[in-house]
Amino acid sequence: MILETLVVGSLQTNCYVLGCPETREALVIDPGAEAGRIRTVLEKQGLQLKKLVLTHAHGDHIGACGELREATGAQVLVHREDAGLLTDPHRNLTAYLGSALTLPPADVLLSDGDVVEFGAGISLTVLHTPGHTQGSICLLGDDVLFSGDTLFAGAVGRTDFPGGSFQELTRSLVRRLLPLPDEIRVYPGHGPASTMGEEKRDNPYLTTDW
Ligand SMILES: [Zn+2]
Ligand SMILES: [Zn+2]
Repeated sequence: MILETLVVGSLQTNCYVLGCPETREALVIDPGAEAGRIRTVLEKQGLQLKKLVLTHAHGDHIGACGELREATGAQVLVHREDAGLLTDPHRNLTAYLGSALTLPPADVLLSDGDVVEFGAGISLTVLHTPGHTQGSICLLGDDVLFSGDTLFAGAVGRTDFPGGSFQELTRSLVRRLLPLPDEIRVYPGHGPASTMGEEKRDNPYLTTDW
């Protein structure tokens, strides 16, 4: 699988471009901003964008979503409990970030356990991990986890925004992420990549017995 990381926007969001080397189909996770740069990566790799998947619908993860959808016809996928954030600049926080953003409704509403497929048999399983937002998800591939703002290297996402809950976040971490194998590479919504093994050893939110 082709995997490129772009750091986009003023909040330095990790946008991941995933591509199938056989079919040249692409899936983008968290197109937070800078649609032009994301399109340049797709073009350089000769990839055709099919799906835009949002780990959650905060402004710093959705800023380039509308433009990319319009330019490529790609579907937008978000967990059903974050669907309302896309169309509400107060709930997606863009009203407070400088430029209020109202997006069209998502094309596909995701639930826990759904499998998002693209290319020749590449699939990502949806893990519903509420806490940062009610509809936050992690996406689990063969040996990779895209953890959004649920899990960062050595830290976790904030829970003080509307819909956030520290209790739910810790429950998500313990029940859904802690059981994952050490070898899984973790690609978070902000900051450097990690592995589940490193997080289990060093991340205070995973080592504390809640
Ligand atoms: Zn967020
Ligand atoms: Zn974020």
